[in-house]
Amino acid sequence: MAEVLKKELLLEGLNCSKCLEDIKNKLNLKDYNLIIDYKTMNISFTVNEGSEYDNLIKYINNVLNNHEHTIKIHEKSLEREEGKTLVIGKLSCSNCAAKIESKVRNISGVKKAEIDFVNSKLNIVAASKADLDRVLIETKKIVKSIEPGAHVHEEHNGSHDHHHHHGDAGIVKKTVTTLVLAAIPLLLAIFLNLDNFVELGLFLVSYLIVGRSVITKALRSISRGDFFDENTLMMIATIGAFFIGEYHEAIAVMAFYLVGEMFQDLAVDKSRKSISELMDIKSDYANVLEGEKIIKLASADVLVGSLVIVKPGEKIPLDGIVYEGEAHIDTSSITGESIPRFVKVGSEVLSGFINKDKVLVIKTTKLYSDSTVSKIIELVENASSRKAPTENFITKFARVYTPIVVLTAFILAVLPPIILKQEFSIWIYRALSFLVVSCPCALVISVPLGFYGGIGFASRNGVLVKGGNYLEAFKNSEEIIFDKTGTLTSGKFKIAKINTTAIDQAKLLEFAAYAEYYSIHPIAAAIKESYQKDIDIARIKKYQEFSGLGISAIIDDVNILIGNQSLMEDNKIDFIEAKQAGTILYIAIDNKFVGSIVIVDEIKAEAKGVISKLKNLGVNKITMITGDKESVASEVANELRIDEFYSEVLPHQKVEILENKVKNSNKKIVFVGDGINDAPVLAISDIGISMGEAGSDAAIEASDIVIMNDNLMKIVDARQIARKTSRVVWQNIAFALFVKISVLIFAALGFINMWIAVFADVGVSLIAILNATRILKMKKTG
Ligand code: ADP
Ligand code: MG
Repeated sequence: MAEVLKKELLLEGLNCSKCLEDIKNKLNLKDYNLIIDYKTMNISFTVNEGSEYDNLIKYINNVLNNHEHTIKIHEKSLEREEGKTLVIGKLSCSNCAAKIESKVRNISGVKKAEIDFVNSKLNIVAASKADLDRVLIETKKIVKSIEPGAHVHEEHNGSHDHHHHHGDAGIVKKTVTTLVLAAIPLLLAIFLNLDNFVELGLFLVSYLIVGRSVITKALRSISRGDFFDENTLMMIATIGAFFIGEYHEAIAVMAFYLVGEMFQDLAVDKSRKSISELMDIKSDYANVLEGEKIIKLASADVLVGSLVIVKPGEKIPLDGIVYEGEAHIDTSSITGESIPRFVKVGSEVLSGFINKDKVLVIKTTKLYSDSTVSKIIELVENASSRKAPTENFITKFARVYTPIVVLTAFILAVLPPIILKQEFSIWIYRALSFLVVSCPCALVISVPLGFYGGIGFASRNGVLVKGGNYLEAFKNSEEIIFDKTGTLTSGKFKIAKINTTAIDQAKLLEFAAYAEYYSIHPIAAAIKESYQKDIDIARIKKYQEFSGLGISAIIDDVNILIGNQSLMEDNKIDFIEAKQAGTILYIAIDNKFVGSIVIVDEIKAEAKGVISKLKNLGVNKITMITGDKESVASEVANELRIDEFYSEVLPHQKVEILENKVKNSNKKIVFVGDGINDAPVLAISDIGISMGEAGSDAAIEASDIVIMNDNLMKIVDARQIARKTSRVVWQNIAFALFVKISVLIFAALGFINMWIAVFADVGVSLIAILNATRILKMKKTG
């Protein structure tokens, strides 16, 4: 078998996105897994090495030569960056996560290193494959040195198992045992009337038992040269307390810290679990029909074209079509749509849908790795690498927080006693209290958790968000631009009237249907649907689509032009303007006008409500942009109370308009389109939202937020989830800072003792973690 190659081509000199669009239309996307990246003008595809590859290159060259541009194709160097994901089991200390990340970034040959604390994963991209192996070995060493208990292994492709379920019972048992063991010498020391020296020894034993894990971790960090580690500071603080004679205090602080850590671990685990439950949309196994037998296969091993039996209550494991049976299916975990959908033989079904009532046989159309669930899970997991500005800010803040607190503590221990001529021990004690609150733990844990929760919750409701940055930016955006056809309107055109001059209506419709045969535009779908008869493709001799204008085709031996007014004007055709309301398609045969077809589209039922809701949610301006004629556009704009509209805009002009808006606004510009003919605009806007049928590859590829069904109400949901996420995140930040600053002030003034400081500090972390999970409890709008 020939090796399958993934190639990337760079098109130099190609600077019009329309040309790229044309290339895409002419090449068959499906055959080669063709992906076009409008930002970099890259085309990538998967093809068999050898003659198939050479032919494809020739073919692309042919297409390109038909354009008037001089375009050179470069093959991108095959030495590609290589990435790997490491799963770090039992990553419980968030501050360590940040340390691991920055250490790994410093390894030579590392292009990118992003830690995903929520999933306990580390994504590494190395400059080349050769580098990768070395980088991985060094990374594992770093992880071991910072988090000795962690278990590192490489993620296997296709499997998204979560490996971090390290029994809750374990940590509770361990903590309780430690506390009981430490209590024995402590109680002996307190209740027996012992010699001072023996008493001190017992306190020391108790302290060492309760502080064992902190002390071992601290010594390890010190040997690494890291003195700002939370464990180190905790150790210094408690040993300090010991020295000034506060034995009980030292032991109590360690004990509280230990219990706090335990609760924090449990809380993080719990919220991780509830998020991954949200994402529990895949089915690991498929019951595959082979002959008479049913065999259970891992979903990842099921071939395209297999027959899979899905019983009531089961999830559909792979994308496919219904082969046998009919049933109601629950699509909510993928589309967010709460009303069950009825499917019968021939209906398309996506993985993740749940069969509600009767047995179905599905014929798979995709491999597991290409199926919708895999894509969604991958997307949501990768989303954590695109961090929101708030998250980046917290990371930076965390880096300076500890040194500042420690420095202040030092000053506090030294200056006031000298200036005020007081005893050192008072001020040292206060300074030591500073050290126990010097970890920014509450922030570094709860903020990423909050964003991850928001993204996970959104995905469960049929809104895929590709990064925390988009979630945060969407919340702040003030202008939303909508495409008309297929976005604000249903895109399901109906023929309202056929006006003819030279030929009869049936003949006109026939030519129109033939000309539109290859087009994927909603207009084409309407024409083909009303024609109904079979199409003999041999009669289509030539076909060319002009985006935003219409189509030119040779059918049999006549030249057909079908499209809008501009298309007629461009070709200098004398036509009779149709006055009816609706979108008008003018038709010319051999450059002579023969008639027009009036088609009408319906505004989506929810559109008006959505626009007014968005305005209530802080969107100042709603704009519409369409290739359709002015009269249709203004009617829709009036009906929906849209603030501004652009009509008769060609696709490349849409790009220009968006570019200008993005350039001239300091707020983020949102564009909502259908993802099929709007890809360049989606890519260029700050936040591209595509509305489309679930699972459309083009839509998922080109946009930043994907709405998994056609319902505009999901945009309102997305905005609300974004607002809620941001509110919770900021609550946590404000609360944590408030408590910490208060503790610091009170400690400096001597109003609280050290164990209260620890208690407050671990309490904040806990509350912040629990608060972050509140995002998942938002009520669903369905
Ligand atoms: P919108 O911006 O509303 O999504 P388009 O840019 O896709 O609209 O199309 C703009 C106009 O171009 C349509 O209203 C129609 O008049 C014409 N047009 C586009 N594609 C076709 C087609 N396949 N057949 C006929 N006319 C077309
Ligand atoms: Mg459109």
